[in-house]
Amino acid sequence: MADITILENVPLAGYSTFRCGGPAKFFAEPATGDEVARLFRLAGEMNWDVFVLGNGSNCLISDEGFDGLVIRIGKNMSELSSEELEDGRVKITAGAGLSYARFGNCCTELSLTGAEFACGIPGSCGGAVFMNAGAYGGETKDFISKVTYWDGQAIRIIDGSDCDFGYRTSLFEKLNSEGKTAVILGFEAILSKGNKDEITAKVDDLRSRRTLSQPLDVPSAGSTFKRPEGYFAARLIEDAGLKGFALDDSGAQVSPKHAGFIVNNGGTAKASDIIRLIDYVVEKVFENSGVRLEKEVRLVGNFGG
Ligand SMILES: Cc1cc2nc3c(=O)[nH]c(=O)nc-3n(C[C@H](O)[C@H](O)[C@H](O)COP(=O)(O)OP(=O)(O)OC[C@H]3O[C@@H](n4cnc5c(N)ncnc54)[C@H](O)[C@@H]3O)c2cc1C
Repeated sequence: MADITILENVPLAGYSTFRCGGPAKFFAEPATGDEVARLFRLAGEMNWDVFVLGNGSNCLISDEGFDGLVIRIGKNMSELSSEELEDGRVKITAGAGLSYARFGNCCTELSLTGAEFACGIPGSCGGAVFMNAGAYGGETKDFISKVTYWDGQAIRIIDGSDCDFGYRTSLFEKLNSEGKTAVILGFEAILSKGNKDEITAKVDDLRSRRTLSQPLDVPSAGSTFKRPEGYFAARLIEDAGLKGFALDDSGAQVSPKHAGFIVNNGGTAKASDIIRLIDYVVEKVFENSGVRLEKEVRLVGNFGG
């Protein structure tokens, strides 16, 4: 078996849509599930911590970086294929490293309906399953029929109905938060055919709604906070007077366009500037409304405390 390239001291800012954060001590981009398994075995032998990174569109990476092995599931695992089923529906098979927008676009090209929202989400297919990414009433769980993942011992395939999907969570996210290994390698999705013009119109409509309401030209990780039950995070932040707010001139700012996004204006902020602003927003919103916002953005590496 060929060796897997493991790079050292790889800057991670370019692998995060926040455009900040320090280096990975070790970094590898596997091409198969077997390579993922081998990397985990090596990390076990070397006593390295492991972090699995997708497209980095929901991560804030510490300024110190990650003192271990970052396994990036990206272009090397981005296969995509489709198969028409007997009942007329279509099964799409996607590698975890495929861009989720590319998956959404493929559904549009094949006149499949239900994944229109995916076209605007800048993550990977693996990250979308992990987070049960969703927008405008659609969620990843709506069409996932099977997920293939590495559980630390073996490569397993489970049904979508066993993935324990919830709001921005999944079985894989839950296993991860319990300190267990769950690396998504790919999924199968089953979608029905629809009217291509209507599907394209919906994709265009969602895209223009995003462009109008979200700061897509400034580095961020999308919505910084989860939607608290019965509220909208952006509204709570606005009500606390924080829309457009910055603590300093670091670049970390509550977006003046969408208060639910904390942005790295000019790309000059450090992760420490961003986390300080996040914590400030949480406190001020709590003081103002009694609601404690919970981060949707995932912290990678050491943020102290
Ligand atoms: C401009 C912008 C708009 C956004 N809009 C939306 C939106 O509308 N809806 C929405 O839900 N999200 C949105 N997001 C957030 C983000 O795109 C999603 O959460 C996305 O699913 C994250 O995928 P990723 O590959 O970038 O994951 P990453 O950020 O790389 O990782 C996120 C988490 O998933 C884990 N992970 C990633 N890949 C794997 C894998 N293969 N196996 C196991 N674990 C894995 C990581 O360990 C990490 O804990 C937006 C982000 C931006 C920047």
